[in-house]
Amino acid sequence: MSLDLRIISGQHNILDYNQVDNESPIALIVGGTRGIGRAVAMRLAKAGFDLWLTYRSNEAAAEQVQAEVREWGRTCDLLRFDVADHAATQSALADRANATPPHAVVFNAGIVRDKLMFWMEPEEWSQVIDTNLGGFYNVMRAVLVPMLAARRGRIVAIASVSGELGQAGQSNYAASKAGLIGAVKSLAREVGPKQVFVNAVSPGLIETEMTEGVHKESLLPLIPLRRAGRAEEVAALVHFLCTEPDMYIHGQVLSVNGGLSMR
Ligand code: NDP
Repeated sequence: MSLDLRIISGQHNILDYNQVDNESPIALIVGGTRGIGRAVAMRLAKAGFDLWLTYRSNEAAAEQVQAEVREWGRTCDLLRFDVADHAATQSALADRANATPPHAVVFNAGIVRDKLMFWMEPEEWSQVIDTNLGGFYNVMRAVLVPMLAARRGRIVAIASVSGELGQAGQSNYAASKAGLIGAVKSLAREVGPKQVFVNAVSPGLIETEMTEGVHKESLLPLIPLRRAGRAEEVAALVHFLCTEPDMYIHGQVLSVNGGLSMR
């Protein structure tokens, strides 16, 4: 087994369970086929996780990630469903999570439908809330009970600086991400006693397809590092939160934003 030595050296190791069974740990990456999710997938595969990789529609991108993960000697199950659909999410995830509780769950799926609020259509509001926030609830409902029964696991939700600060033209998106932060903190209080860790990672401006249309030149002066971030720079923190054995970070919102916001 090619597990990162740092992962297997910890005393309170979330991966011990599968070490005993001589199986690889499993990471569920929700929305793992492009951008930040893809970078997380590659990082965790290299660290020794087998993957359950979910996506909504882009089959070609999913198959490409699967092929690359296999090159690292790991398995990669592709699960296609809309995370905003509660029934579809349960039917894709519940049975497999009951059979094998995932060791790490990264909730990364997210969409934008940017518009000023006074022009925003009801479906533009609800699609974003249902995906970015409702999707988190849907996934947690499918995986939490088995993870709690296993008494170990790492959950990371990808929030956004917009959810921390608000952003004109993104009231739907900012509300969904602020709600996600509230859900993460509440869940952390619920499941901490079972040694299931829950945290949010909050990216700033990251170069992905989602931000292709964003006028970056106007934002760069606001970023002390004077550049957009890379998906791999977000994935590095997610990797840490999913694998670090000496772990006392729980219920936190950790920013990856080049200094765009500081607390
Ligand atoms: P991308 O648009 O590049 O990728 C989004 C991923 O989520 C894809 O794998 C997509 O699958 C999946 N997805 C989207 N909607 C659904 C759905 N309804 N059901 C299942 N899967 C879905 O996004 P980014 O990589 O840029 O962003 C990833 C996360 O980071 C998002 O939550 C985003 O809000 C957040 N974020 C991004 C920032 C940025 O600057 N890029 C900044 C702050 C936060 P498919 O390919 O099939 O559509």
